[in-house]
Amino acid sequence: LAAHWQILIALLLATLLASGFRALDGIFAEDDWGRGVMLNTITVCGFVGGLFIQALKMIIVPLVMSAIISGIASLGGVEGFGRLGLKTVGFYMTTTFFAVLVGLLLVNTIQPGLSGGEPDLEIRAALEQQAAGASDEEKEKVAVAGEKKAGDFADLFKKMIPPNVVQAASNNGQLLGLIFFSILFAVAMTQLPVDRMSPLSGSIQGIYDVMIRVTQWIMALAPIGVFGLMVPTIYESGVELFVVLGKYFGTVVVALGLHLFVVMPLVLKYIGKIDPLAHFRGMRMALLTAFSTASSSATLPETMHCIQNNAGVSKRISSFTLPLGATVNMDGTALYECVAVLFVAQVMGENFGLAAQFAVVVTALLTSIGVAGVPSASLVAILLILNSSGVKNADMAVVALLSVDRLLDMSRTAVNVFGDSCAAVCIARSEGEAIYATSD
Ligand code: ASP
Repeated sequence: LAAHWQILIALLLATLLASGFRALDGIFAEDDWGRGVMLNTITVCGFVGGLFIQALKMIIVPLVMSAIISGIASLGGVEGFGRLGLKTVGFYMTTTFFAVLVGLLLVNTIQPGLSGGEPDLEIRAALEQQAAGASDEEKEKVAVAGEKKAGDFADLFKKMIPPNVVQAASNNGQLLGLIFFSILFAVAMTQLPVDRMSPLSGSIQGIYDVMIRVTQWIMALAPIGVFGLMVPTIYESGVELFVVLGKYFGTVVVALGLHLFVVMPLVLKYIGKIDPLAHFRGMRMALLTAFSTASSSATLPETMHCIQNNAGVSKRISSFTLPLGATVNMDGTALYECVAVLFVAQVMGENFGLAAQFAVVVTALLTSIGVAGVPSASLVAILLILNSSGVKNADMAVVALLSVDRLLDMSRTAVNVFGDSCAAVCIARSEGEAIYATSD
């Protein structure tokens, strides 16, 4: 059975089991032994899923460093790298901007937070109730984030030049500092005399190859890992709120879908001259991993593997575009931030005119760069934007959204990862590489 089918089956089985558990929840008495067995099963699943995520994260630091260094070394110094860098950044900014426009368009037409042109009080009450029942951990997370001011955006960019490389490497999902250091290292390395550079370059190349092999081992266990991750996630998801928030969920999902299935395929077809269907097929394992883990960083090893093995992008291009993309290019996140912020504003009776919406767009673009590729990372950014626009009760709304975030997080992470992969293939194509065995 092909790997992607195994993962899909794991997702399905986990959904069935977790739904069964939810149904049993109402049947078991508090002290039933059956409840004990059920809760223990869920804990074990969560443990196994956690191991899987940790295994994926384990290889990120050596993978990112070795990929970038060996990639840039093969670009032949600063010139080749400069052109590629410009193309990559340009592609990332343009496509994220498209994503934001899609989100803005939908949230303004569907208006999920309004009912009959007025703030939807039923939703407001449901959010309040959900926030009141949120776990301390969730409240704490939001409280910490709430203390940040808009000026703290600068901090996100300050991390680009890390005062301590080891610390930068240990910063969960926030790879910008590591990437910066690796680029410097690589450029300096290419300036060494050949006899000094070759052994170094060869060893780093070797580390990279080893990491890709380890990735394959870990991914062989992905069906078990995904099953383990999904059981507690689905069991704990607050289905009740899903109904009240249906319009909001719908808006986010439709907007993400438009970007993923309409905008990006058009970009692939007309800018990259690449068959979108072939690209979806090539990326399916990365998309499933992103969806299951809700973390672009944890997915990075698999994204690199898919883009090189299936699409045929050279290491020199993918090893630079993908690690950078996993950190700074988040189409789904930027789109989601816009929709979520405007939704909360609508519910809270705050009317965002054109100028205010423009400010939201700019901050969403900037924060999607600074946000780490880990689950629910964008909620912090949403709170920052809401607070700086002076929306009342923003903390409460964000706590409520956090508790139902997982499904949307999974979806936007898949969109984030797909965006990175599109950049890799389009840029590779523009550099004359044969992608999916097509060449002019
Ligand atoms: N979970 C997302 C990612 O890793 C970030 C976010 O939007 O929360 O791409």
